[in-house]
Amino acid sequence: MNMKTREGREVELNQEKVDSWRVQLRGPAFLPGDTRYDESRTVWNGMIDRRPSIVVRCLGIADVITCVKFARDNDILLCIKGGGHNIAGLASADGALMLDMSLMRGVWVNTQNKTAHAQAGCLLGDVDRETQVHELAAVLGFVSLTGIAGLTLGGGFGYLTRRWGWTADNVVGVDIVTADARLVRASSDENTDLFWALRGGGGNFGVVTGIDYALYPVGPEIVGGVVAWPASEAPKVLELYRTLAENAPPELTLAAMMRPAPPAPWLPKDRHGTPIVALLACYSGRPEVGEKAVAPIKSFGNPLGDILVRRPYAQLQSLLDATQPKGRRYYWKSEYLPRIEPALCEKILVHAGRIRSPHSAVILFQIDGALNRLGGEHSPVGNREARYVLNLAGSWEHPDEDGVHIKWARDAWNDMRVFSTGGTYINFLTEEEVPERTGAALGKALQRLAEVKKRWDPENMFRTNHNIKPV
Ligand SMILES: Cc1cc2nc3c(=O)[nH]c(=O)nc-3n(C[C@H](O)[C@H](O)[C@H](O)COP(=O)(O)OP(=O)(O)OC[C@H]3O[C@@H](n4cnc5c(N)ncnc54)[C@H](O)[C@@H]3O)c2cc1C
Repeated sequence: MNMKTREGREVELNQEKVDSWRVQLRGPAFLPGDTRYDESRTVWNGMIDRRPSIVVRCLGIADVITCVKFARDNDILLCIKGGGHNIAGLASADGALMLDMSLMRGVWVNTQNKTAHAQAGCLLGDVDRETQVHELAAVLGFVSLTGIAGLTLGGGFGYLTRRWGWTADNVVGVDIVTADARLVRASSDENTDLFWALRGGGGNFGVVTGIDYALYPVGPEIVGGVVAWPASEAPKVLELYRTLAENAPPELTLAAMMRPAPPAPWLPKDRHGTPIVALLACYSGRPEVGEKAVAPIKSFGNPLGDILVRRPYAQLQSLLDATQPKGRRYYWKSEYLPRIEPALCEKILVHAGRIRSPHSAVILFQIDGALNRLGGEHSPVGNREARYVLNLAGSWEHPDEDGVHIKWARDAWNDMRVFSTGGTYINFLTEEEVPERTGAALGKALQRLAEVKKRWDPENMFRTNHNIKPV
């Protein structure tokens, strides 16, 4: 079998050696041409088209250990796929041995100490589903099909971030198979250097097999959803967003969005594809208080559609899924913001007006609160001064339009990056931004991460990520 070494050289592996490794696996392995190979090797972003030499769908920790040993002993490039949602396509690599974690999706909730152990192949929706049985929730992201592993290892934010911080701030333990093919536990009292590094340092330190999250009482019913107006109302709606967000209690998280109206049943058919401005809200505390908190949004102007209502928390967590299908082409540019300035809102109007795809959007996420209260050294996710995330989210269908939509996102970003904290979200970096902007995302933590990397992965075996070189 032909494979790539870590340094990218082609090697031909002796078939007997490959066979004797494969018989040790409990999960299935797929080669190019096998029916399920493409399903594994492809990722969410249709711009990425890489072909690992073999995919193993690990069915337990023993499979992970067996694969890490095989890759180490034969100097084979390894890549790891969680939910496959990384925009830079870091889960897949040409010629690599891919560990597809999608068969490891168990979740165990401990209601006594309010934690959940989730296997590393879980999607966000898996964890919400199991924790909501107990009216508990972990701090996760906005789209239920995203993988927990990539999101958590890079930081993570969502509707509960204002109350409890980055997802990584709420990790209480990690099980990981390290470069020496050992299963190791990292927590606040075991392997503490590794535990620090895993909360923002990405997949640099091994193959994570399970994550323990702190859980909080949320739901089952909350107030959440979207209200949309025609884009002509955007100056007033963005000003409403700015003032409401500045004064919002921690239970209320608000996002603003400008884009062409999606073909959603709650929006009038004749408005589909026309420019809109929308506010997305979640009040994660008591619904009767939430209804009062979102009243200024619901009573504002003449909305085109309003689905900001009492609903199950888990349902809100998947509300945006349909707008982000696997396989479409995506290109993002993103910055952390310290505040929303009126001058920024003016730029948003200009660049939203230049969108040429029915799927692209300018989005502002509110994240301020708990994460701002921890020190910069707490974990590598850092960016403790970030209060909003600006995302210029380009998305389209045809490869021959790549240039137009990528240019839109880049131009808008160039014009708006002056409002940035100087930091950016590592999980939103595109392929071309790797590795230059890793520094902007990780800041001062880079040096310490490199030291931890040297201790746990001195040969840089885990490199298909935002790579940190061991020093
Ligand atoms: C539609 C969409 C919505 C999003 N929404 C949010 C959001 O609300 N909040 C937010 O914070 N982020 C969000 N993100 C960004 C998201 O956090 C990243 O895309 C993240 O990388 C996704 O994780 P994944 O497991 O799906 O990624 P993958 O593409 O599978 O992997 C990403 C990286 O993590 C590594 N990795 C994966 N699994 C493991 C493992 N078990 N052990 C070690 N390394 C591993 C991979 O090797 C790769 O380097 C969103 C992304 C998309 C596409």
